[in-house]
Amino acid sequence: MLRNNKYVLDLSDLQFKRVRLPWKAKLVRTILWFTASVIIALFYGTLVEKSIGSPKEKMLSQQLDNMKLQYSLVSRELDNTMSSLNSFRLSDDRRYRPILEMDSISDSYRKGGFGGVDRFRDLEGYTNSDMLISFRTRIEGIKNMATVQKESFKTIAERSVEWKREMDHFPGISPVSVNFRMGDGFKWRAIHPVLGTARMHNGQDFEVPYGTEVYATGDGTIIESGWNSGGFGNCIVIDHGYGYQSIYGHLSGIKVTKGLKVKRGELIGISGSSGLSSGPHLHYQIEQMGHAINPSHFINNEMSFEEYTDMIQAFASKSKFR
Ligand SMILES: [Zn+2]
Repeated sequence: MLRNNKYVLDLSDLQFKRVRLPWKAKLVRTILWFTASVIIALFYGTLVEKSIGSPKEKMLSQQLDNMKLQYSLVSRELDNTMSSLNSFRLSDDRRYRPILEMDSISDSYRKGGFGGVDRFRDLEGYTNSDMLISFRTRIEGIKNMATVQKESFKTIAERSVEWKREMDHFPGISPVSVNFRMGDGFKWRAIHPVLGTARMHNGQDFEVPYGTEVYATGDGTIIESGWNSGGFGNCIVIDHGYGYQSIYGHLSGIKVTKGLKVKRGELIGISGSSGLSSGPHLHYQIEQMGHAINPSHFINNEMSFEEYTDMIQAFASKSKFR
């Protein structure tokens, strides 16, 4: 190597002469140079590695960053799923179940019982065990809540079908068009209009002219159809199930026979003044488990004349009794 050669000016002939070092000195210099190079290389190497890391480390750290990002995305998804399930739970508990008169599901049942602390033993002992266990716990919770929710919706759907059936059978409308006025209500009458004695009035009267159409107030089966010797004259009784019966008295005409099934709003009879009656009117009575109750509490007062007429006409088009 050029730079290892030394030259001196020989004053005797004014020539540059190459100085030849002894081999020992050469060896020492070589060793020193090599050692210094290694030290410098190590120093810079360490410095570089410390500040920016080796390519492999860099790759690993990138993978780790990616993984952390994916975990946080999954974590957010888990949170979203949990909050959706929670909103289902709230509609269950605050809307469907109270409306359908069903008990709410306990929180402990929804979240499910966890099988003790050893449940995730296989996940213990890793640097990220806590995170893994937290994920597994949340996933198990979601799985359980989803299963309970599915069951709950199924029960609610079944109950709502039953509930609709019950609502349809419930004697819940006026037996005559809503534009007619109500007469005497459910009360103690000091003087009965015909008998002239004090007597309980067990129903609700409607001031309707002779010949007014009378409709079934809820779905049910005709259990009485004909003359009633107790004073109701021509009379119809519908059994609505669920313990309810409705009675329509003082009729001039009967359109249904015993055993027939009727729907709410279907024409069943024509008003009159038969039996113990002082003039044309409809006597309407509701019994619950055999006891007369106040029908005015059952009649839907929200129904407008148009709504009532629409309902009747919808049935009129397919009625078999006209
Ligand atoms: Zn009456």
